[in-house]
Amino acid sequence: MKKSFIKLLSIALLSIIIFSSLAGCSNESASQSTNPSTSEDKAKDKIKIGLSIDDLRLERWQHDRDIFKKRAEELGAEVLVQSANGDDQTQLSQSENLISQGIDVLVVIPHNGAAIAPVVEQAHKAGIKVLAYDRLITNADVDYYISFDNVRVGELQAEGILKKVNKGNFFLLGGSPTDNNAKLFRKGQMNVLQPLIDKGDIKIVGDQWAKDWLPEEALKIMENALTANDNNIDAVVASNDSTAGGAIQALAAQNLDGKVAISGQDADLAACQRIVEGTQTMTVYKPIQKLATKAAELAVAMAKGEEIETSATVNNGKIDVKSILLTPIAVTKENIDETVIKDGFHKKEDVYKNVK
Ligand code: BGC
Repeated sequence: MKKSFIKLLSIALLSIIIFSSLAGCSNESASQSTNPSTSEDKAKDKIKIGLSIDDLRLERWQHDRDIFKKRAEELGAEVLVQSANGDDQTQLSQSENLISQGIDVLVVIPHNGAAIAPVVEQAHKAGIKVLAYDRLITNADVDYYISFDNVRVGELQAEGILKKVNKGNFFLLGGSPTDNNAKLFRKGQMNVLQPLIDKGDIKIVGDQWAKDWLPEEALKIMENALTANDNNIDAVVASNDSTAGGAIQALAAQNLDGKVAISGQDADLAACQRIVEGTQTMTVYKPIQKLATKAAELAVAMAKGEEIETSATVNNGKIDVKSILLTPIAVTKENIDETVIKDGFHKKEDVYKNVK
């Protein structure tokens, strides 16, 4: 008797719970249909951009991320950022993960332009467009590419060195062998150096590529190059500032810093300081503000399905990718104030911190 009463009571209670929760549901859906701008709906409308970055350990990419995110958010989009710390497999799985989170556009700064290619097809299958940022994705149907004129970057590096030394022993310090840009920088460098090599004015005493653009790799390469050449090196054609930093450390250990001409790229703060102190000859400043801002605007337009006018195309081995290529600027001690500092990329007091 007691047992069946308890049973009855629990059935009654359960029915009350089910009924009231159903009533709650219908209320919610009613309010949704009459008021289409609930916060949940707004969140659904919000453009979601996935930003897959090769490696946030290098200063350069932190600037890109911050500016990109700020501009995209100003335009009402949300940005999901991932850094692969220089690992192909991580970048692949992070990109797949972004795709599965319902992004509208995937923006990729590839660690390896060839290895990341399958992600483009996966994104397209999910209706997501892909923008290759700064580095091209090769052999894939990439929708857009935005970068600087990277062959020109290499030419500026070689020209910058030649202004200081135009004959003697030159060492070529390339970037990451898996980065398509590293090859373009080298192409530009050789456009300028080859005629002087052919003439016999310049002798290339070594040519190596620094894994993942890491300064510690560059340091090792430079130490070995100095040993192999009895310190007899007149110029180092370094492809960016992080590798220039490593190489200058090796030069300093032999009291050669400031004596050997050396190029760079990115206008990293440490490199700008070395330039005003006289241990690095030049850097190539690529206004990241412009690149990241434009890229964010492009990504938002892509998400809205807009057709975008581009002035260039770059062949990636499969297609001619619609491209926007910005202009790089050579920076030396002479023009650092009117370029990097004037643009607010670095503060004057930070750049000249160690100069009395
Ligand atoms: C970029 C450079 C950068 C390098 C290392 C290249 O692809 O264009 O600006 O220094 O990667 O991150």
